[in-house]
Amino acid sequence: MKRRAGATFSLSPRNGAAMLDALIIGAGPAGLTAALYLARYRRTVRVIHDGRSRLLWVPRSRNVPGFPDGIVGRDLVAKMSEHAELYGAEIEEGRVVGLAELGERGGFAARLTSGELVEARGVILATGVDTARARLDAGDHDSAVQAGTLRYCPICDGYEHRREKVAVLGSDKHGAAEAMFLRQYTSDVTLIPKAYVDLSDAQRAELADSDVKILEGQLTRLEARGEAVFVSLSGETSARRFDVIYPAFGSTPRSELAAMLGPVTDRNGCLPTSAYLDGLTPGVYAAGDVIEGLDQISVAIGHGAMAATRLHNWLRETDGHVMDARR
Ligand SMILES: Cc1cc2nc3c(=O)[nH]c(=O)nc-3n(C[C@H](O)[C@H](O)[C@H](O)COP(=O)(O)OP(=O)(O)OC[C@H]3O[C@@H](n4cnc5c(N)ncnc54)[C@H](O)[C@@H]3O)c2cc1C
Repeated sequence: MKRRAGATFSLSPRNGAAMLDALIIGAGPAGLTAALYLARYRRTVRVIHDGRSRLLWVPRSRNVPGFPDGIVGRDLVAKMSEHAELYGAEIEEGRVVGLAELGERGGFAARLTSGELVEARGVILATGVDTARARLDAGDHDSAVQAGTLRYCPICDGYEHRREKVAVLGSDKHGAAEAMFLRQYTSDVTLIPKAYVDLSDAQRAELADSDVKILEGQLTRLEARGEAVFVSLSGETSARRFDVIYPAFGSTPRSELAAMLGPVTDRNGCLPTSAYLDGLTPGVYAAGDVIEGLDQISVAIGHGAMAATRLHNWLRETDGHVMDARR
């Protein structure tokens, strides 16, 4: 992985605050798991988050192991926060806008929008991704997500829509792949273009073979009403009703803080899969959706545990608290 020189801050933290062992940026399943592990390794840990975990959107997840009746995303965040705090992790809301190495002194400084500087020997970036949201012409976006009529993750909840009338919004390869994926749950899947269909003849043929319908008109109105979503297309007189719609507009990794330290992200802005194991630069690890891979709660939890353990062992090594294998 290529690296370039990172930024440095010359300011000191306010109130002469002591340097933390670990600063975790992000309070989703990745960051909160890392906080729990590090706190139980008896490290001083602070979690800073800007309240935008995607887990807070999840109406009820049914694929988190150990919760056969499902768990509401907000409740899982609350339970995971409580668990980490029980062992001494501090969790607080704030937005980190700068991250830099401290140079000679070692460690890192994070700058918050409030102007506060937080210093830590190690950092875990668990900053997730930004999902591109659908814009509704009528009805409330968040209520539709809670009602399960507007969905963003076929892997997470496609199972809930077996034998229903499902639409995928997005007419490129990405939308087509989601439509094909959802086809295993229901025979009624329709791909709807936002503006026009951007698929090759071969891709269209593949969709036709799988009985995925493609609508050719231009989307003019998207409305969430009660237990359904209604889609109007140019040239049509009445809206089409679907039980659920999956916008397939992709997401953007929140990797801007990693970029400030120098490590290079891939062309989609994702951090490399090795980031939870080998780190991005000594003392900095990443975990969860911000890393290239399967964007799932269980994966984020696994990354968080690994990143925390790697950081803990790196701190032990730095302090000479590991057995010298040569003796
Ligand atoms: C509608 C929906 C339903 C889903 N359903 C499921 C499901 O059923 N099962 C499943 O496994 N997965 C599901 N997912 C995916 C799951 O929510 C994510 O995989 C998971 O939340 C990723 O965890 P994370 O900790 O990596 O990131 P997130 O949970 O997104 O947390 C990122 C954290 O970083 C913080 N942050 C980022 N940048 C900064 C900054 N500069 N300063 C401060 N804080 C910052 C945010 O505030 C947030 O706390 C769903 C996602 C959506 C959108």
